[in-house]
Amino acid sequence: MTDSRYIGRFAPSPSGELHFGSLIAALGSYLQARANQGIWRVRIEDIDPPREVPGAADTILRQLDHYGLHWDGDVLWQSQRHEAYREALTWLGEQGLSYYCTCTRARIHAVGGIYDGHCRDLGLGAENAALRLRQTRPVLQFSDQRAAGARGFYYPPSRRAVRLQPGGGGRRPLSGDHRDCPRRRPD
Ligand SMILES: [Zn+2]
Repeated sequence: MTDSRYIGRFAPSPSGELHFGSLIAALGSYLQARANQGIWRVRIEDIDPPREVPGAADTILRQLDHYGLHWDGDVLWQSQRHEAYREALTWLGEQGLSYYCTCTRARIHAVGGIYDGHCRDLGLGAENAALRLRQTRPVLQFSDQRAAGARGFYYPPSRRAVRLQPGGGGRRPLSGDHRDCPRRRPD
């Protein structure tokens, strides 16, 4: 967690060989990582066994290798990451950076589609609850990198106004349930 280098990731599901669109996504992610002097990692999303095709993971890795998309470090297998995620979620909870939320999508829709922090200080338990991250500077907008460089826009906690950075063409509003974004849902 102390390595601050740029880390690019490609995380295919082993449900078949990579099609053209997936290879383009892999290439984009690879080039972005290299352009930032970062590392590029591959994680196989093997957590949906009914959709998995035997041998597909090997095929995908061969395809990446064939096209010169050489990854750094070991390939990660998502099915073996549960303990790491559990530890990370526990850490977030201990730091007071997450909380449980029982709001339904219908409720969030009813309050305008943007989560209003309803459960933030209710001290709810884990049962039938989503885990939300406590964000003090929720992202309001982002800039399309092609137009203006990768930038985030935030509600400053003091003014709850939008801070826009100069020269930013291509700004796009975020929509939907992005404040205190849920990291894990009961479903
Ligand atoms: Zn809630």
